[in-house]
Amino acid sequence: MRFTIALRFVLARRRCRDWLRGGYRFIQLPGRFVELTRLAIISDVHANLEALEAVLGETRGLDIICLGDLVDYGANPNETVELVRDRGIRTLMGNHDWAAVSGDTRLFNPRAAMSSIWTQRRLTGENLEYIRTLPLEFRDPFEGQEAYFTHGSPDDRLWEYVDPRTHTDLFGHYLSKLGVGLIGLGHTHIPYVWVEGGKTVFNPGSVGQPRDGDPRASFAVLSVQHKEVGVEVRRVGYDIEKAASKIRSAGLPESHASRLFSGT
Ligand code: ZN
Repeated sequence: MRFTIALRFVLARRRCRDWLRGGYRFIQLPGRFVELTRLAIISDVHANLEALEAVLGETRGLDIICLGDLVDYGANPNETVELVRDRGIRTLMGNHDWAAVSGDTRLFNPRAAMSSIWTQRRLTGENLEYIRTLPLEFRDPFEGQEAYFTHGSPDDRLWEYVDPRTHTDLFGHYLSKLGVGLIGLGHTHIPYVWVEGGKTVFNPGSVGQPRDGDPRASFAVLSVQHKEVGVEVRRVGYDIEKAASKIRSAGLPESHASRLFSGT
């Protein structure tokens, strides 16, 4: 009897934990059935394998979309590409991915260019081929409305930085030009969620090189309850020491390692 009660408690606790980690598309509440569809959006992984693994641990069971920049800055470009590919994560091309396959680093500062050249020399032929096939945008139906995802901006999908402090006036233009209710953008490494009139523009922040002062890996989870889309930015800690020491041992610029500790 006592064993049965203990077992029930363990199973209930496990169900609760699994639900909190995601993976359940529906939950049963007393007297009603509440829809809860969840999708994780990640971006700007930048060859930081430790950060990516931490985020994947938090998004088990969810579909995942990546808004680009798998490579550069970090020391594990091949492992990052392979993990994303093997997990079946739908991924867009970012400006750093584009540089890796085009060899064109003219728009980068000297440290970023050095990292790009280092990455180009190490990526396997198979991984370069995978990056070459990445699209510039996704347009998906999401719970009765259209969602649009790209790395930079809808006007310049690879290179434009969209900052809510300077671009909020453009959000209405993006939404109506595309005829969508939800837009996800990457590239700035700074997370935000902007909502107006039931429409949303958001940035999940960066998995591998956050720049908003919080060094934890950043990602977003989309959920729908009662037909309303909610976007929640989440953070998870990871082994920064390990990621930074690999960057240093590889001879990549010191700032690429040190900035991980401050999240800037
Ligand atoms: Zn980036």
